[in-house]
Amino acid sequence: MIETPLYSIRMRAAQGGPHEEGGLHISGAERIGLFQDLQTIAAELLGKSLSHTRGEADYVQIVVEKLDTHTLQKVLPLSVSTHHVSDWQQGREKAAELLSVSGISRQAIYSGLEILKSAGNLRGAAILDGRTGKRLDDRGERGIRASRMDWDSASFTRWAQDHGSLGSIRIREALALATKVVYSPFTMAELCWSDDPDYVTGYVASLEHGYQRINHLKEWGDPAGGRVFFVHPETDLDDYIQYLEKTPIWIGGGLYESSR
Ligand code: AMP
Repeated sequence: MIETPLYSIRMRAAQGGPHEEGGLHISGAERIGLFQDLQTIAAELLGKSLSHTRGEADYVQIVVEKLDTHTLQKVLPLSVSTHHVSDWQQGREKAAELLSVSGISRQAIYSGLEILKSAGNLRGAAILDGRTGKRLDDRGERGIRASRMDWDSASFTRWAQDHGSLGSIRIREALALATKVVYSPFTMAELCWSDDPDYVTGYVASLEHGYQRINHLKEWGDPAGGRVFFVHPETDLDDYIQYLEKTPIWIGGGLYESSR
């Protein structure tokens, strides 16, 4: 158990007013930090919200909450691999192949790809049954936002030293998110490509095969993107959402250093 108090710091930014009043989603982020790091993290998140290629935010919300560290789980980050393809069509074929290896049906893969292709304002993830492809959550464009996960900073510094060019803030955040998502026994796999028009790399993640990057999953300039969490048909949706939104997950947490 961790005795030092930890805090969840979450940011969401929109253009044209708050999301719930119809604003366009610009960016979001979730971090965990020590009391003495809160001001730095809040400033980093404000910086991210005000300089996004999706546009200028006119609504930014930052929420800080003390965590119940009794429920905190320390886990190792997923392993990372990269598949190189020459265009987004090949990238989507590769994503379909990787999802299929994780047991996702053709119908569910099709549904997941269709959701992301047309997701212009999704600010969380859509949860899909990995067999039928039916969307299970009822959150619409809001989706489900996984939160309360982050790297222990020392573990990330060490991990970044071991992984060269992968040590960016974008991969830091996405790998923390994917690690949390696939550690749930309900998750079969996750599919993601960004809604950032200037970032075309995406990934498929699963517990068995890790975080599998695909260098080209959408056309340059396309603002559509998001995340799909494919789950087992017997998933208890309330438990799953509770885990995604509330259970604090500390990536590394001293485990990474000792696993090297
Ligand atoms: P990003 O990786 O920040 O470019 O986010 C791309 C899309 O992924 C967002 O528009 C959301 O639809 C989804 N997303 C981002 N962060 C989360 C999260 N914490 N939980 C669930 N979905 C997310």
